[in-house]
Amino acid sequence: MSVKNGRQFLSIPGPTTVPDEVLAAMHRPAIDIRKGELVDVTAAIKDGLRMISKSDGTPFIYIANGHGAWEAALSNVLNRGDKVLVLESGSFAVGWGQTGGTMGLDVEILPGSWQRAVNVDALEARLKEDKSGDIKAVLVVQVDTATSVVNDISAIRRAIDNVGHDALFMVDTIASLGTMDFRMDEWGVDVTVTACQKGLMMSPGVSFVIANKKALARHETANLRTAYWDWTSRLGPEHYQNYAGTPPVHMLFGLQKAFEMIKAEGLEAIFLRHQLLAEATRMAVKKWSEGGEFSFNILNPAERANSVTTVLAANDKSLDAVHKYCSEKCGVVVGVGISQLSGKALRIAHMGHINAPMLMGTLSAIEMSMKAQDIPHGSGGVQAAIDYLAENVPQ
Ligand SMILES: *Cc1c(COP(=O)(O)O)cnc(C)c1O
Repeated sequence: MSVKNGRQFLSIPGPTTVPDEVLAAMHRPAIDIRKGELVDVTAAIKDGLRMISKSDGTPFIYIANGHGAWEAALSNVLNRGDKVLVLESGSFAVGWGQTGGTMGLDVEILPGSWQRAVNVDALEARLKEDKSGDIKAVLVVQVDTATSVVNDISAIRRAIDNVGHDALFMVDTIASLGTMDFRMDEWGVDVTVTACQKGLMMSPGVSFVIANKKALARHETANLRTAYWDWTSRLGPEHYQNYAGTPPVHMLFGLQKAFEMIKAEGLEAIFLRHQLLAEATRMAVKKWSEGGEFSFNILNPAERANSVTTVLAANDKSLDAVHKYCSEKCGVVVGVGISQLSGKALRIAHMGHINAPMLMGTLSAIEMSMKAQDIPHGSGGVQAAIDYLAENVPQ
Protein backbone atom coordinates (compact mmCIF):
# COMPACT_ATOMS: atom_id res chain seq x y z
CA MET A 1 0.00 0.00 0.00
CA SER A 2 1.01 3.62 -0.19
CA VAL A 3 0.03 7.06 1.07
CA LYS A 4 0.08 8.64 -2.35
CA ASN A 5 -3.59 8.95 -3.18
CA GLY A 6 -4.52 12.61 -3.37
CA ARG A 7 -3.06 15.23 -5.66
CA GLN A 8 0.29 14.30 -7.19
CA PHE A 9 3.10 16.76 -6.50
CA LEU A 10 5.22 17.57 -9.50
CA SER A 11 8.52 18.86 -8.11
CA ILE A 12 10.62 18.68 -11.25
CA PRO A 13 12.36 21.74 -12.73
CA GLY A 14 10.08 21.97 -15.71
CA PRO A 15 7.48 21.59 -16.78
CA THR A 16 6.13 22.96 -13.53
CA THR A 17 2.72 23.03 -11.89
CA VAL A 18 0.10 24.82 -14.00
CA PRO A 19 -2.28 26.93 -11.88
CA ASP A 20 -5.95 25.93 -11.99
CA GLU A 21 -6.78 29.47 -13.18
CA VAL A 22 -4.52 28.95 -16.21
CA LEU A 23 -6.05 25.55 -16.98
CA ALA A 24 -9.53 27.06 -16.68
CA ALA A 25 -8.63 29.96 -18.99
CA MET A 26 -7.88 27.43 -21.75
CA HIS A 27 -11.19 25.62 -21.35
CA ARG A 28 -13.32 27.62 -23.77
CA PRO A 29 -14.54 27.53 -27.36
CA ALA A 30 -12.31 28.34 -30.32
CA ILE A 31 -12.43 31.84 -31.80
CA ASP A 32 -11.46 33.62 -35.00
CA ILE A 33 -7.72 33.94 -35.50
CA ARG A 34 -7.59 36.88 -37.91
CA LYS A 35 -9.22 39.72 -36.03
CA GLY A 36 -10.92 40.57 -32.78
CA GLU A 37 -10.01 39.24 -29.37
CA LEU A 38 -7.03 37.13 -30.33
CA VAL A 39 -5.19 40.13 -31.76
CA ASP A 40 -5.48 41.77 -28.35
CA VAL A 41 -4.35 38.57 -26.61
CA THR A 42 -1.15 38.54 -28.68
CA ALA A 43 -0.51 42.18 -27.81
CA ALA A 44 -1.12 41.47 -24.10
CA ILE A 45 1.37 38.58 -24.14
CA LYS A 46 4.01 40.74 -25.80
CA ASP A 47 3.42 43.46 -23.21
CA GLY A 48 3.70 40.86 -20.46
CA LEU A 49 7.03 39.64 -21.84
CA ARG A 50 8.39 43.19 -21.87
CA MET A 51 7.21 43.71 -18.32
CA ILE A 52 8.72 40.49 -16.97
CA SER A 53 12.03 40.91 -18.83
CA LYS A 54 12.25 44.66 -18.06
CA SER A 55 12.74 45.47 -21.70
CA ASP A 56 11.49 47.68 -24.52
CA GLY A 57 12.68 45.07 -27.00
CA THR A 58 10.72 43.27 -29.69
CA PRO A 59 9.22 39.92 -28.55
CA PHE A 60 8.58 36.94 -30.82
CA ILE A 61 6.28 34.06 -29.86
CA TYR A 62 7.14 30.57 -31.09
CA ILE A 63 5.07 27.39 -31.08
CA ALA A 64 8.04 25.42 -29.83
CA ASN A 65 9.78 24.36 -26.65
CA GLY A 66 12.99 26.01 -25.49
CA HIS A 67 15.09 24.10 -28.01
CA GLY A 68 13.08 25.76 -30.77
CA ALA A 69 13.65 29.22 -29.31
CA TRP A 70 17.41 28.48 -29.21
CA GLU A 71 17.35 27.83 -32.95
CA ALA A 72 15.10 30.83 -33.58
CA ALA A 73 17.47 33.15 -31.73
CA LEU A 74 20.63 31.97 -33.49
CA SER A 75 19.14 31.80 -36.98
CA ASN A 76 17.90 35.38 -36.89
CA VAL A 77 21.14 37.14 -36.01
CA LEU A 78 24.08 35.05 -37.27
CA ASN A 79 25.79 33.99 -40.47
CA ARG A 80 27.03 30.56 -41.51
CA GLY A 81 30.54 30.07 -40.16
CA ASP A 82 30.26 32.77 -37.45
CA LYS A 83 32.07 31.99 -34.23
CA VAL A 84 29.97 31.93 -31.04
CA LEU A 85 31.47 31.70 -27.58
CA VAL A 86 29.47 29.47 -25.22
CA LEU A 87 29.95 30.00 -21.49
CA GLU A 88 29.76 26.61 -19.82
CA SER A 89 28.23 26.34 -16.34
CA GLY A 90 26.35 23.09 -16.80
CA SER A 91 24.34 21.46 -19.52
CA PHE A 92 22.17 24.07 -21.16
CA ALA A 93 24.41 26.75 -22.67
CA VAL A 94 26.47 23.92 -24.16
CA GLY A 95 23.29 22.36 -25.55
CA TRP A 96 22.40 25.68 -27.13
CA GLY A 97 25.87 25.84 -28.66
CA GLN A 98 25.48 22.31 -30.05
CA THR A 99 22.29 23.45 -31.75
CA GLY A 100 24.34 26.23 -33.34
CA GLY A 101 26.94 23.70 -34.44
CA THR A 102 24.34 21.78 -36.45
CA MET A 103 23.33 25.06 -38.10
CA GLY A 104 26.84 25.77 -39.38
CA LEU A 105 28.15 28.01 -36.60
CA ASP A 106 31.72 27.70 -35.34
CA VAL A 107 31.16 26.91 -31.68
CA GLU A 108 33.82 27.59 -29.08
CA ILE A 109 33.15 26.59 -25.50
CA LEU A 110 34.69 28.57 -22.67
CA PRO A 111 35.15 25.63 -20.31
CA GLY A 112 33.53 25.96 -16.92
CA SER A 113 32.92 23.92 -13.81
CA TRP A 114 29.60 22.18 -13.25
CA GLN A 115 29.79 23.31 -9.64
CA ARG A 116 30.41 27.01 -10.17
CA ALA A 117 29.09 30.02 -12.02
CA VAL A 118 30.76 31.26 -15.19
CA ASN A 119 34.23 32.64 -14.52
CA VAL A 120 33.90 36.26 -15.61
CA ASP A 121 37.66 36.91 -15.59
CA ALA A 122 38.26 33.98 -17.94
CA LEU A 123 35.62 35.39 -20.27
CA GLU A 124 37.22 38.82 -20.23
CA ALA A 125 40.65 37.30 -20.95
CA ARG A 126 39.27 35.30 -23.89
CA LEU A 127 37.51 38.31 -25.40
CA LYS A 128 40.66 40.37 -25.04
CA GLU A 129 42.53 37.84 -27.23
CA ASP A 130 39.90 38.22 -29.95
CA LYS A 131 41.50 41.28 -31.52
CA SER A 132 39.94 40.68 -34.92
CA GLY A 133 36.41 40.38 -33.53
CA ASP A 134 35.83 36.82 -34.73
CA ILE A 135 33.42 36.11 -31.89
CA LYS A 136 30.00 37.26 -33.09
CA ALA A 137 27.93 36.21 -30.07
CA VAL A 138 28.34 35.20 -26.43
CA LEU A 139 25.82 32.57 -25.22
CA VAL A 140 25.02 31.97 -21.56
CA VAL A 141 22.18 30.78 -19.32
CA GLN A 142 21.02 32.78 -16.33
CA VAL A 143 20.18 29.59 -14.42
CA ASP A 144 21.43 26.19 -15.52
CA THR A 145 18.73 23.71 -14.65
CA ALA A 146 21.09 20.72 -14.51
CA THR A 147 23.56 22.19 -12.03
CA SER A 148 21.26 24.77 -10.35
CA VAL A 149 23.85 27.51 -10.72
CA VAL A 150 22.88 31.15 -11.20
CA ASN A 151 25.14 33.30 -13.38
CA ASP A 152 25.62 37.02 -12.83
CA ILE A 153 24.35 38.43 -16.11
CA SER A 154 25.23 42.06 -15.37
CA ALA A 155 28.81 41.06 -14.43
CA ILE A 156 29.15 39.17 -17.72
CA ARG A 157 27.95 42.28 -19.57
CA ARG A 158 30.57 44.35 -17.75
CA ALA A 159 33.28 41.91 -18.81
CA ILE A 160 32.20 42.29 -22.46
CA ASP A 161 32.13 46.08 -22.08
CA ASN A 162 35.52 46.21 -20.35
CA VAL A 163 37.05 44.77 -23.49
CA GLY A 164 34.84 46.89 -25.74
CA HIS A 165 33.83 43.74 -27.59
CA ASP A 166 31.02 43.99 -30.13
CA ALA A 167 29.64 40.43 -29.85
CA LEU A 168 25.92 40.02 -29.34
CA PHE A 169 25.07 39.06 -25.77
CA MET A 170 22.48 36.25 -25.84
CA VAL A 171 20.94 34.92 -22.63
CA ASP A 172 18.77 31.85 -22.00
CA THR A 173 16.39 32.69 -19.13
CA ILE A 174 14.19 29.60 -19.50
CA ALA A 175 14.72 28.47 -15.90
CA SER A 176 14.91 31.92 -14.36
CA LEU A 177 12.48 34.39 -15.93
CA GLY A 178 9.65 35.05 -13.51
CA THR A 179 11.61 33.59 -10.58
CA MET A 180 14.37 36.17 -10.12
CA ASP A 181 15.39 39.59 -11.32
CA PHE A 182 16.28 39.92 -14.99
CA ARG A 183 16.83 43.33 -16.60
CA MET A 184 17.28 42.88 -20.30
CA ASP A 185 17.77 46.57 -21.13
CA GLU A 186 19.72 47.68 -18.06
CA TRP A 187 22.07 44.70 -18.30
CA GLY A 188 22.63 45.17 -22.03
CA VAL A 189 21.28 41.80 -23.12
CA ASP A 190 20.79 41.82 -26.90
CA VAL A 191 18.77 38.62 -27.26
CA THR A 192 16.73 36.94 -24.52
CA VAL A 193 15.45 33.40 -24.91
CA THR A 194 12.75 31.99 -22.68
CA ALA A 195 9.94 29.44 -22.55
CA CYS A 196 6.55 29.24 -20.91
CA GLN A 197 6.69 26.07 -18.83
CA LYS A 198 8.94 26.94 -15.90
CA GLY A 199 8.70 30.22 -14.02
CA LEU A 200 5.95 31.40 -16.37
CA MET A 201 3.56 28.66 -15.18
CA MET A 202 2.10 27.57 -18.52
CA SER A 203 1.98 24.05 -19.91
CA PRO A 204 4.87 23.43 -22.34
CA GLY A 205 4.77 24.29 -26.03
CA VAL A 206 5.37 28.03 -26.38
CA SER A 207 8.71 29.83 -26.21
CA PHE A 208 9.91 33.35 -26.78
CA VAL A 209 12.78 35.39 -28.10
CA ILE A 210 13.15 39.09 -27.31
CA ALA A 211 15.44 41.20 -29.49
CA ASN A 212 16.84 44.66 -28.87
CA LYS A 213 17.76 47.20 -31.55
CA LYS A 214 21.30 45.87 -31.99
CA ALA A 215 19.96 42.35 -32.54
CA LEU A 216 17.35 43.62 -35.02
CA ALA A 217 20.12 45.41 -36.93
CA ARG A 218 22.22 42.21 -37.13
CA HIS A 219 19.11 40.41 -38.32
CA GLU A 220 19.08 42.48 -41.52
CA THR A 221 22.14 40.67 -42.87
CA ALA A 222 21.95 37.31 -41.07
CA ASN A 223 22.12 34.48 -43.60
CA LEU A 224 21.02 31.67 -41.27
CA ARG A 225 17.45 33.00 -41.47
CA THR A 226 14.77 30.48 -42.43
CA ALA A 227 11.10 31.04 -43.19
CA TYR A 228 9.52 29.69 -40.02
CA TRP A 229 11.68 31.45 -37.42
CA ASP A 230 12.22 34.66 -39.42
CA TRP A 231 11.65 37.88 -37.49
CA THR A 232 10.97 40.05 -40.56
CA SER A 233 8.05 37.95 -41.72
CA ARG A 234 6.78 37.65 -38.13
CA LEU A 235 6.61 41.44 -37.94
CA GLY A 236 4.36 41.59 -41.02
CA PRO A 237 0.96 43.30 -41.00
CA GLU A 238 -1.30 40.23 -40.71
CA HIS A 239 -1.97 38.72 -37.29
CA TYR A 240 -1.16 35.17 -38.42
CA GLN A 241 2.35 36.33 -39.35
CA ASN A 242 3.17 36.59 -35.64
CA TYR A 243 2.98 32.80 -35.64
CA ALA A 244 4.04 32.04 -39.22
CA GLY A 245 0.65 30.37 -39.54
CA THR A 246 -2.17 29.35 -37.20
CA PRO A 247 -1.72 30.71 -33.67
CA PRO A 248 -1.78 28.29 -30.69
CA VAL A 249 -5.09 29.83 -29.65
CA HIS A 250 -5.80 28.10 -26.34
CA MET A 251 -2.21 28.26 -25.19
CA LEU A 252 -2.38 32.00 -25.72
CA PHE A 253 -5.43 32.16 -23.46
CA GLY A 254 -3.50 30.25 -20.82
CA LEU A 255 -0.45 32.47 -21.18
CA GLN A 256 -2.49 35.62 -20.94
CA LYS A 257 -3.93 34.37 -17.64
CA ALA A 258 -0.50 33.35 -16.34
CA PHE A 259 0.85 36.82 -17.13
CA GLU A 260 -2.15 38.41 -15.40
CA MET A 261 -1.35 36.34 -12.31
CA ILE A 262 2.29 37.45 -12.43
CA LYS A 263 1.24 41.07 -12.73
CA ALA A 264 -1.25 40.76 -9.88
CA GLU A 265 1.30 39.22 -7.50
CA GLY A 266 4.01 41.66 -8.61
CA LEU A 267 7.54 40.79 -9.71
CA GLU A 268 9.19 41.84 -6.46
CA ALA A 269 6.81 39.70 -4.39
CA ILE A 270 7.37 36.77 -6.76
CA PHE A 271 11.15 37.07 -6.49
CA LEU A 272 10.96 37.22 -2.69
CA ARG A 273 8.66 34.17 -2.59
CA HIS A 274 11.16 32.23 -4.69
CA GLN A 275 14.09 33.38 -2.57
CA LEU A 276 12.37 32.36 0.67
CA LEU A 277 11.32 28.94 -0.63
CA ALA A 278 14.76 28.33 -2.15
CA GLU A 279 16.49 29.25 1.07
CA ALA A 280 14.13 26.98 3.04
CA THR A 281 15.09 24.16 0.66
CA ARG A 282 18.77 24.91 1.22
CA MET A 283 18.23 24.81 5.01
CA ALA A 284 16.81 21.31 4.67
CA VAL A 285 19.58 20.14 2.32
CA LYS A 286 22.22 21.54 4.66
CA LYS A 287 20.81 19.47 7.53
CA TRP A 288 20.52 16.32 5.42
CA SER A 289 24.12 16.79 4.28
CA GLU A 290 25.32 16.20 7.84
CA GLY A 291 24.80 12.48 7.21
CA GLY A 292 27.59 12.51 4.61
CA GLU A 293 25.48 10.99 1.83
CA PHE A 294 24.11 14.18 0.27
CA SER A 295 25.72 17.50 -0.64
CA PHE A 296 25.02 20.67 -2.59
CA ASN A 297 26.18 20.57 -6.18
CA ILE A 298 26.91 24.29 -6.23
CA LEU A 299 29.79 25.01 -3.89
CA ASN A 300 29.41 28.75 -3.35
CA PRO A 301 26.12 29.58 -1.58
CA ALA A 302 25.92 32.90 -3.48
CA GLU A 303 25.80 30.97 -6.79
CA ARG A 304 22.80 28.76 -5.89
CA ALA A 305 19.69 29.43 -7.95
CA ASN A 306 16.32 30.33 -6.47
CA SER A 307 14.42 28.16 -8.94
CA VAL A 308 15.98 24.72 -8.48
CA THR A 309 18.42 22.96 -6.12
CA THR A 310 20.65 20.15 -7.36
CA VAL A 311 21.68 17.74 -4.60
CA LEU A 312 24.52 15.27 -5.16
CA ALA A 313 24.39 11.79 -3.68
CA ALA A 314 27.47 9.74 -2.85
CA ASN A 315 25.67 6.53 -3.73
CA ASP A 316 23.33 6.02 -6.68
CA LYS A 317 21.39 3.39 -4.74
CA SER A 318 20.26 5.93 -2.18
CA LEU A 319 19.29 8.25 -5.00
CA ASP A 320 17.11 5.63 -6.66
CA ALA A 321 15.62 4.77 -3.30
CA VAL A 322 14.63 8.39 -2.63
CA HIS A 323 13.09 8.88 -6.08
CA LYS A 324 11.21 5.61 -5.96
CA TYR A 325 9.88 6.06 -2.45
CA CYS A 326 8.82 9.66 -3.09
CA SER A 327 6.88 8.78 -6.22
CA GLU A 328 5.53 5.33 -5.37
CA LYS A 329 4.80 5.81 -1.68
CA CYS A 330 4.09 9.54 -1.47
CA GLY A 331 3.01 10.74 -4.94
CA VAL A 332 5.85 13.29 -5.11
CA VAL A 333 7.88 13.41 -8.32
CA VAL A 334 11.36 14.77 -7.59
CA GLY A 335 13.70 15.74 -10.43
CA VAL A 336 16.50 13.38 -11.43
CA GLY A 337 20.03 14.37 -12.36
CA ILE A 338 20.52 14.95 -16.09
CA SER A 339 23.42 14.91 -18.53
CA GLN A 340 26.74 14.60 -16.65
CA LEU A 341 24.81 14.40 -13.37
CA SER A 342 22.57 11.58 -14.52
CA GLY A 343 22.47 8.98 -11.73
CA LYS A 344 24.40 11.29 -9.43
CA ALA A 345 21.90 13.89 -8.27
CA LEU A 346 18.35 14.74 -7.41
CA ARG A 347 16.86 18.09 -8.29
CA ILE A 348 14.28 19.81 -6.15
CA ALA A 349 12.31 22.38 -8.12
CA HIS A 350 10.94 25.46 -6.39
CA MET A 351 9.81 27.62 -9.26
CA GLY A 352 6.63 29.00 -10.69
CA HIS A 353 3.30 28.20 -9.08
CA ILE A 354 4.59 27.01 -5.72
CA ASN A 355 3.84 27.94 -2.15
CA ALA A 356 5.13 26.94 1.29
CA PRO A 357 2.90 23.87 1.77
CA MET A 358 3.80 22.53 -1.69
CA LEU A 359 7.50 22.91 -0.94
CA MET A 360 7.09 21.49 2.58
CA GLY A 361 5.24 18.51 1.16
CA THR A 362 8.12 17.77 -1.19
CA LEU A 363 10.84 18.26 1.43
CA SER A 364 8.86 16.12 3.89
CA ALA A 365 8.49 13.27 1.42
CA ILE A 366 12.23 13.34 0.72
CA GLU A 367 13.11 13.30 4.41
CA MET A 368 10.51 10.61 5.07
CA SER A 369 12.06 8.46 2.35
CA MET A 370 15.53 8.86 3.88
CA LYS A 371 14.28 7.92 7.30
CA ALA A 372 12.14 4.98 6.16
CA GLN A 373 15.01 3.49 4.16
CA ASP A 374 17.87 4.16 6.57
CA ILE A 375 19.69 6.44 4.15
CA PRO A 376 22.30 8.41 6.08
CA HIS A 377 21.11 11.97 6.62
CA GLY A 378 21.05 14.64 9.27
CA SER A 379 17.53 14.66 10.68
CA GLY A 380 15.52 17.82 11.15
CA GLY A 381 15.85 19.14 7.61
CA VAL A 382 12.15 19.91 7.33
CA GLN A 383 12.20 21.49 10.77
CA ALA A 384 15.06 23.73 9.66
CA ALA A 385 13.00 24.80 6.63
CA ILE A 386 10.01 25.55 8.87
CA ASP A 387 12.16 27.53 11.29
CA TYR A 388 13.63 29.54 8.45
CA LEU A 389 10.27 30.42 6.93
CA ALA A 390 8.66 31.17 10.30
CA GLU A 391 11.39 33.68 10.96
CA ASN A 392 11.75 35.20 7.50
CA VAL A 393 8.36 35.34 5.79
CA PRO A 394 7.39 38.99 6.40
CA GLN A 395 4.49 39.47 8.83
C1 LIG B 1 14.36 23.58 -19.72
C2 LIG B 1 15.49 24.37 -20.26
C3 LIG B 1 15.80 24.39 -21.63
C4 LIG B 1 15.12 23.50 -22.63
O1 LIG B 1 13.80 23.80 -22.77
P1 LIG B 1 12.86 22.78 -23.57
O2 LIG B 1 11.54 23.44 -23.48
O3 LIG B 1 12.92 21.48 -22.84
O4 LIG B 1 13.36 22.66 -24.94
C5 LIG B 1 16.80 25.22 -22.05
N1 LIG B 1 17.49 26.00 -21.20
C6 LIG B 1 17.24 25.97 -19.89
C7 LIG B 1 18.05 26.85 -18.99
C8 LIG B 1 16.24 25.17 -19.38
O5 LIG B 1 16.01 25.14 -18.06
